[in-house]
Amino acid sequence: MNKTIDTNLHREIAQFGARDMDICMQCGTCSASCPLSSDTDTFPRKIYRYLQLGLRDKLLKSPEPWLCYYCGECNLDCPRGAEPAETMMATRRWLTTQYDWTGLAKKLYLSESWEYGALGAVSLFIILLFVFFHGPVITDRVAVNSFAPVMWIEIGDLTMAAILTLFLLSNAFRMFRLIMEDTHIPLHLYITEAKAFLLHFATQKRWRECGSDRSRWLKHFLLVTGYMTMMTLIIVFIRWFQVDDSSWHFTSLFGYYATGVILFITVEMFLSRRRKKEAIHRFSELSDWLFLILLFFTTLTGIIMHAVRLAGWPISTYVMYVIHLAIAVPMLVIEVPFGKWSHLFYRPLAVFLTTVRQKAARPSRIDITDLRTRIGDMFMSCLQCGTCTAVCPWNQTNGYSPRLMLRHMALATGTTQNLDTAVWNCTTCDACGDPCPRGITIVDTIRAAREILNQQQTVPESLKIPLQHLAAKGNPWGGDPNQRPDWARDIDLPAYRPEHTYCLFTCCTTAYDDSPSRHIQQAGRALPKLLNQADISFGSFGTQEICCGEPALQLGNESIFAALSQANQALFQKHQVDKILTTSPHCLHTFKHVYANGKALPATEHYTELLERLIQSGALVPKFDVAATVTFHDPCYLGRHNGITEAPRRILSSIPGMRLVEMRDNRDHSLCCGGGGGCAFMPIGSDGSLAGARIRQALDVRADIIATACPTCMRMLQQAAESLRIAETIVVQDVAELLLQSIEKSYEHPLPIHVNLELDQEVLHA
Ligand code: SF4
Ligand code: SF4
Ligand code: SF4
Ligand code: SF4
Repeated sequence: MNKTIDTNLHREIAQFGARDMDICMQCGTCSASCPLSSDTDTFPRKIYRYLQLGLRDKLLKSPEPWLCYYCGECNLDCPRGAEPAETMMATRRWLTTQYDWTGLAKKLYLSESWEYGALGAVSLFIILLFVFFHGPVITDRVAVNSFAPVMWIEIGDLTMAAILTLFLLSNAFRMFRLIMEDTHIPLHLYITEAKAFLLHFATQKRWRECGSDRSRWLKHFLLVTGYMTMMTLIIVFIRWFQVDDSSWHFTSLFGYYATGVILFITVEMFLSRRRKKEAIHRFSELSDWLFLILLFFTTLTGIIMHAVRLAGWPISTYVMYVIHLAIAVPMLVIEVPFGKWSHLFYRPLAVFLTTVRQKAARPSRIDITDLRTRIGDMFMSCLQCGTCTAVCPWNQTNGYSPRLMLRHMALATGTTQNLDTAVWNCTTCDACGDPCPRGITIVDTIRAAREILNQQQTVPESLKIPLQHLAAKGNPWGGDPNQRPDWARDIDLPAYRPEHTYCLFTCCTTAYDDSPSRHIQQAGRALPKLLNQADISFGSFGTQEICCGEPALQLGNESIFAALSQANQALFQKHQVDKILTTSPHCLHTFKHVYANGKALPATEHYTELLERLIQSGALVPKFDVAATVTFHDPCYLGRHNGITEAPRRILSSIPGMRLVEMRDNRDHSLCCGGGGGCAFMPIGSDGSLAGARIRQALDVRADIIATACPTCMRMLQQAAESLRIAETIVVQDVAELLLQSIEKSYEHPLPIHVNLELDQEVLHA
């Protein structure tokens, strides 16, 4: 779950070398060309999206940056000329600083003075240690073990190894907790899959599949074997390695091997970076260079020391010994836990954790036969064209794929993780319905899958609560039915009588608005005021009013929906209701298309339809200027599901002084607010990423006000604006509120603060 939208994330990652987050248009070409991206772990497009939307929590939970091995294939075909490989690298650098609890990694990555200063300080410490605590300096022969007794060196080595391991493991544990936070994986899987960690730690096997140039993997593999051998010799076999006589020990062979490969490969890599032989090396950072340079000089000074020792030059040997350690120790102490070298642990850990997650996946509980019985075979004809995924709003923010869900359903290959979880994240916005070339009703398919999961009582915890409230209190928010009419406050809300023209049906989100500003309730009060102005007779069921049942319907709970639907219909019959006026497009849809189902029911209309007619007939006359630039957010259930796109626009256009502008996605192609289909109760809905994207679209057209005609949309958009800390820059308002503002000057409304955002501020905001 993303708790907040972090407007600084974009800027923060740029400090680590990401250059092109703004130009990515989310086409997904890079993910398609990445040889390592998979259906379950998609990148790099998804990472760009997190960065663009400021989804810090999601980025922190992503193992994907570590699954990228920097082959650069994704750079080749980006239509915008972005270089995703660089952004993945920058994200890895940033993640390294986020895992590190000491804060040192961040300082070292972002400040050259800190990097050089830290290396210099450790180096000086080593030199001073030898200046003050060296053993007897024997000059008539080479006696390293006298100058630096091997027992003390061994104790020093082991102490250093223990401290480094402690830092590295504690940081890796933080990485583990972030990635596995929401998973419930049995311990035995971690144990049995530990081999994946060891395999990838030892071989970096994934790199072989990354890019066409296999020699890069081979060079890296040899380098790793070189320095791992060297570290083993220094830490475990120092007694055999640091000797004064010329007796030969087999460990020398390993020493020669390690020295050879480290020298050869570091020089080769260094030159390759310097000559920018490969395109991906165009943007090397200090941390990339230092790593190679320190490794090279550690080895070189080791060779020189060995040579002067064999030549029998005692003083030169001791001096070179100290210089060698003054380079090797800072390299290990600084680079392994806090610098680039930490990737030696983080990469295999990410591979291990994703393997564990995949192994823990259990087969989907959605029975295909049951699904076919409920909705027929149409969904089986999916040709996997991916159109639905391309238009799905969630795909813009988190890689959600209805195409993949359909494939898993049709082939019965889904798991509880990739299918049974995913079906709850659909907002039922129906953006995918029309464009499907096979005419598959994806929303119905997903709803049927939810019904099956409901019958098996495997509903996500966060959805159990609204369902329980619906069953017990008749609303999903758990509000007291006796307090339902409180939203109207001082407005006269008469009890419905048969002689009333309309039965005003209030949305539960308005009635139980718990936001600090109670703005949804305030917006709700605009409609009865307008109805009174136009002399429209209406009444309400007051404390008897209950939810239309739409949340239960969309969440697949047939019995709760049936109970609410029957209770409502009984109420309509008892009070001889002819016409229902709804404030929410969700109620409108439910009464009009679901309750009706062939039965004679009261005619239902949305309030925007009535208000438009009242303006046309002259019963309502907007006369006061509302000098603002307004854009209209089409609620999915008003526009796409019910074809009402013009009535709200005509209302807004009738207001003097108001300038109506259109966002990029409008009318039938509106971008969902992220709250439909029960998502308002889910962590995915409350992450605000979709509503945040919509706010961005409103900022793009320089709107002061984003108007809407749905309490759920209002709630989602307002939360996103607050989370972006721009709630006073772009005001979320209901269409009825704006109309009332123009009719009744005394009306109290949140005034938009006119701010002309500069382009860079807009980028920062969204
Ligand atoms: S190919 Fe380029 S524009 Fe398309 S998603 Fe990847 S980075 Fe963005
Ligand atoms: S650099 Fe290679 S592995 Fe990384 S995202 Fe690009 S194509 Fe995939
Ligand atoms: S648009 Fe239709 S046919 Fe194409 S992948 Fe989606 S469901 Fe299948
Ligand atoms: S209904 Fe909307 S959210 Fe659900 S799969 Fe289709 S496009 Fe995506």
